[in-house]
Amino acid sequence: MATAKAAPQPIPRIAPREDLNPHRIAQIQFDLAAEYLKLDPGLRQILRSPKRVLEVSVPTKMDNGQVKVFTGYRVQHNVARGPAKGGIRYHPNVTLDEVKALATWMTWKTAAVNIPFGGGKGGVICDAKRMSKGELERMTRRYASEILPLIGPEQDIPAPDVYTDSQTMAWIMDTYSMTKGYSSLGVVTGKPVSIGGSEGRKEATARGCMVVTEEACKLKKMSLRGASVAIQGFGNAGSLVARLFAEKKSRIVAISDSRGGVFNSCGIDPLKAMRYKERSGTVVGMPGTSRISNDDLLTMKCDILVPAALENVITLNNADQIKAKVVAEAANGPTTPHADEVLARKGITLLPDILANAGGVTASYFEWVQDLQSLFWPLSEVNAKLESVMRRAFQEAYETMRKHRTHMRTGAYILAVGRVADATLVRGLFP
Ligand code: NAD
Repeated sequence: MATAKAAPQPIPRIAPREDLNPHRIAQIQFDLAAEYLKLDPGLRQILRSPKRVLEVSVPTKMDNGQVKVFTGYRVQHNVARGPAKGGIRYHPNVTLDEVKALATWMTWKTAAVNIPFGGGKGGVICDAKRMSKGELERMTRRYASEILPLIGPEQDIPAPDVYTDSQTMAWIMDTYSMTKGYSSLGVVTGKPVSIGGSEGRKEATARGCMVVTEEACKLKKMSLRGASVAIQGFGNAGSLVARLFAEKKSRIVAISDSRGGVFNSCGIDPLKAMRYKERSGTVVGMPGTSRISNDDLLTMKCDILVPAALENVITLNNADQIKAKVVAEAANGPTTPHADEVLARKGITLLPDILANAGGVTASYFEWVQDLQSLFWPLSEVNAKLESVMRRAFQEAYETMRKHRTHMRTGAYILAVGRVADATLVRGLFP
């Protein structure tokens, strides 16, 4: 009897076993480190969840005269080692769990580079790309006033993240200052230099990423010179990563943004790509390049892959197809825990977000210190201090990884979680 041939099943985009909730992923990553550190169950409970969560309504007058109410969040995960610190994201897909995850990662990040901050994050659910400058300003000022009870130079210090920038920070600084009645420089970082921003802050995330990648490459006996680099996300972090790697004579073979990617095996000039994106709003269509999808960019043959956009782009779905020798996470949360295991099995060196993109918060710390002291440093001093912090953090994470015979993410987590746990224990439990 002839049997009907089964119709080919479509390959599911997301492997069914994988939980892509970013907060749960952050908790899985923490649990692993807590296990290595043999943390007490009570301490685990404290460190697993955010300390404070605020949800706000942000009524905003739009250009057409109508009022639109946006939802925003500010989460403080932990402040045991200093004020909460973390960016503000404007994106249609912002969720409370995403903000909780990002705040948690900030706690481990500030501890991994050993700067005296805790972790926080904020977000507003909005499509910033479709809003006018006036709408963004009004929404930002109202959001800032709604989260005012939480923020302040000694409490919680926001910074830019996806689709926010130095202008956004200037509006928040002004709103906070007007409410207080005096100018408060230290309430946000990533500000324009003219109002207390730091030299070198804009490119610090990228510089830190480049420095730790260089350290990892030295250990793998790879040189940045001539290395092929693919970068997903050509925003603040990604475009400057491209520029700094190109300065090291690496070959930028592919870049992308939310509309797609472009490819040239001989190398793409990042400065030309920045100018092209500024004019046309995307890198797609840049002369001298061919089109590539974001998915294909991630799995293309290259020496160094830099995810610099959003979470959950390297999953069980594509991890076994990654061909890069080094993955440097400029973005927060681009790789899932299952994908981590696959990459480790394949011998790919993964530089985790809490280390690879910690240059941004490190320079933010320098900015805050300069604001509080009203004494500003030249670019050379900022860069030298930044490089020294990043090289030391890499070394410490690497040594921790070796000691525990694990991979770099867990090494960095053991280092960071251990520091926060120590601070929590020595302070004791209030009351
Ligand atoms: P940005 O808004 O400047 O740039 C984001 C880029 O990602 C844009 O080019 C956008 O087109 C692209 N993008 C958006 N959706 C995409 C998609 N689905 N596929 C491919 N590309 C997409 O933001 P940013 O500040 O560069 O932040 C990027 C990542 O780096 C985020 O994960 C952020 O949390 C992380 N990060 C940023 C900083 C910083 O200082 N800016 C610091 C640490 C970590």
